[in-house]
Amino acid sequence: MIDASLSLEKTNFLGYTEKDWIQLLDGQGYKKFHAGQIMKWIHHRFISDFSEMSDIGKNLRDHLSMTGNLKEPRVKEEFVSTDGTRKWLIESFSGKLFELVYIPEKSRGTLCVSSQVGCALKCDFCSTGKLGFSNNLTAAEIVAQIRIAIRRLAEIFPENKKRSVSNIVFMGMGEPLLNLPNVLPALDVIRSDLGYGISKRRVTVSTSGIVPAISVLAEKADVSLAISLHAPNDRLRDRLIPLNKKYPISLLLDACRAYSEKFSHKKEIFVEYTLLEGVNDGYEHAKELASILKGLSCKINLIPFNPFVGSSFKQPSVGRVSEFRSALVANGYSVTVRTTRGNDIAAACGQLAGLVHQTNRHSKYREIKLTNI
Ligand code: SAH
Ligand code: SF4
Repeated sequence: MIDASLSLEKTNFLGYTEKDWIQLLDGQGYKKFHAGQIMKWIHHRFISDFSEMSDIGKNLRDHLSMTGNLKEPRVKEEFVSTDGTRKWLIESFSGKLFELVYIPEKSRGTLCVSSQVGCALKCDFCSTGKLGFSNNLTAAEIVAQIRIAIRRLAEIFPENKKRSVSNIVFMGMGEPLLNLPNVLPALDVIRSDLGYGISKRRVTVSTSGIVPAISVLAEKADVSLAISLHAPNDRLRDRLIPLNKKYPISLLLDACRAYSEKFSHKKEIFVEYTLLEGVNDGYEHAKELASILKGLSCKINLIPFNPFVGSSFKQPSVGRVSEFRSALVANGYSVTVRTTRGNDIAAACGQLAGLVHQTNRHSKYREIKLTNI
């Protein structure tokens, strides 16, 4: 006879929110206040086994061990850039690889997390787009990325609390708004004091423009929103981001206005604009961009294109980037230019998939690894 309990898949509790815990505890006849204790063990003390929870009764510990686990996806490689950027190559539970990047700066440490393995949206200038879609990451796999990074950084810099994670951006692999059932609980854990306690201003979800999902995000979470605009008109954006044919710029900007106004302080939207030489980096483009963004509470972030093997786009010169920026500043916008980080380990925006692509296809990551420490 087959034991039915053996075939039941265990729940990975890394992705459990406080609400999930309360529901579980209540349903099983345990006291709700254990939710806080359990979450602290998992996300503050990084336990991997329920038996370590010394202030929780044995019955509950046994119940959790029988029905669930705290499994993290496996880190296969770590790369470190000359500028201090770190990249971890991680094996998802599906067996496919994805990447996690840590970018240290003077006053903050930003973790760039992945939400999917690959991406279905096929933007021409992005190496993840070239990879195609493989699978969604689970809430546990998303939360695990923060746990993995914080633990590893504490190991490398035991004395230096500054060298930890202060900001989280969903700008790694994948389109987060196409994986909301997993991204939303992960955001909850990231924001909760019982989880990683990262404030709403320091958590940013970036989207290429899944318009209906933007209002869902506004309803269910309170985080910063970044949109990947990259073009000031539909003719050009259609070419760069195929999704634009479904959700054109006017709909996307309407969704941004609604998102911004949903919050009492008129949340600022981050407008990402990747500069591609001779494609979208002219003075006329800057003027048109300034005009379409009028009235939107926003900050513009210019990203000079990061080249990758197989792409025909080019990075504009420093002078051209600066001219583009000046044209926007002259129109009253707050504009930053994102400096390329981790280029030598292919950890910059849009470069992530190169290594993963080859690895997922041929399982030869050891032969092509870069700066392994
Ligand atoms: N799918 C989401 C989040 C991941 S991409 C999105 O598209 O917003 C994170 C950012 O990197 C996006 O703004 C994306 O357009 C940008 N990007 C992608 N490829 C790039 C490249 N090769 N050079 C510079 N920026 C790139
Ligand atoms: Fe996907 Fe974003 Fe890359 Fe476009 S830019 S292919 S949406 S990850």
